[in-house]
Amino acid sequence: MDLTLSPNEQEFRDELRAWLAENHPGQEPTGDIDAFEFRRKWQHKLHENGYAGLSWPKEYGGRGATLIEQALFNEEMVRARAPMTANVLGLVMGGPVVIAHGSEEQKERFLEPILTADEIWCQGFSEPESGSDLASLKTKAVKSNGEWVVTGQKVWTTFAHEAKYCMLVARTDFDAPKHKGLTYFIMDMEQEAVQVRPLRQITGEAEFNELFIEEARIPDENVIGGVGNGWMVAITTLMHERAGLGFGSAIQLKIAIGELMELARERGVDEDPVIRQKIAQLVIEAECLRLTASRGLTQQMKTGIPGPEGSLVKWQWSDTNQAMTELAMEIMGADAPVMDDKWTYRFLRARANSIEGGTTEILRNIVAERVLGLPRMR
Ligand SMILES: Cc1cc2nc3c(=O)[nH]c(=O)nc-3n(C[C@H](O)[C@H](O)[C@H](O)COP(=O)(O)OP(=O)(O)OC[C@H]3O[C@@H](n4cnc5c(N)ncnc54)[C@H](O)[C@@H]3O)c2cc1C
Repeated sequence: MDLTLSPNEQEFRDELRAWLAENHPGQEPTGDIDAFEFRRKWQHKLHENGYAGLSWPKEYGGRGATLIEQALFNEEMVRARAPMTANVLGLVMGGPVVIAHGSEEQKERFLEPILTADEIWCQGFSEPESGSDLASLKTKAVKSNGEWVVTGQKVWTTFAHEAKYCMLVARTDFDAPKHKGLTYFIMDMEQEAVQVRPLRQITGEAEFNELFIEEARIPDENVIGGVGNGWMVAITTLMHERAGLGFGSAIQLKIAIGELMELARERGVDEDPVIRQKIAQLVIEAECLRLTASRGLTQQMKTGIPGPEGSLVKWQWSDTNQAMTELAMEIMGADAPVMDDKWTYRFLRARANSIEGGTTEILRNIVAERVLGLPRMR
């Protein structure tokens, strides 16, 4: 692993920095609908300038950039405090999954509108009784007259209220062993048979939803990776989800730790040895995270697909982000968790970090078995 940037990579980064300095759209407006439209326009602009789907092949509207350039892009976006893109799940998971497992027709049909944010994607994996043990999911899809009829319930479906398409995993074979009876679909959300109900979080926002699916229709050409191969395609999705996190989140942590130091100064605790020790530990963790992300990237460059190292990154990030926001609460005092303050928001939002995208316990199992090669528990 060589962490020095090549002249081409440096040039790419400098150009991007200059572009961001000139084109930064400013602060996101408040209010869910306005904020989402703002993100959509921002993604549109990124796409027009060749900055959406960086590592996607050029023939599908991407930039054909290297994985290092993609990582640099993620870092620079966070460094510039650029807003989020509207179609995060489509860009990070949906597109890469279609590129890896989709047919030529599916690539032609689905990739471009993901990049432009004209079609937003969501991820319909988790169910009320199936989260960590995803393979036990019960939503069923039955083939009838050349199309699939889907019935079931999904939960925690982020951005389902904005989505045109859902990456849906459903059971298509009830006799096969549980991992083998699953199929991966692209489901059109715009049908009466799919009801989306918002779930309000501890922060007050409603980012995610419940999905009630009652005989929804999916055409056969929207199966990805073949009938019965849903588990394999789902794993690709999750690996992309976790691998996408690394670089941006390391920089995000470093910026936030800088703000935390500022907070400690404002509150007059910056000379407190215990607080100083805790902040120093956070700085170390953030740097370790960056290096682990680089290690995962090296692995991905060798094999072409993100590996289980992404699970380690996600686990490290959620631990560090939670520790950082808890320290902010400690510095701010007893009423901090109920104040209207950016640190209160960050503290409350961070509670979900060790659950979303795979719980920390599950990630520890993956790291133990697939990175360290320890014996399986079961
Ligand atoms: C903010 C947020 C956004 C989300 N967005 C989406 C989304 O867009 N799409 C989607 O499909 N899902 C989404 N999820 C759901 C998320 O993936 C699940 O919550 C997660 O996988 C855990 O599943 P569960 O909630 O059913 O908990 P469970 O699986 O029931 O787990 C409960 C507890 O038991 C522990 N546990 C379970 N199995 C084991 C084991 N084998 N060994 C050790 N401990 C174990 C878990 O770690 C956890 O602490 C989101 C969740 C959050 C918080």
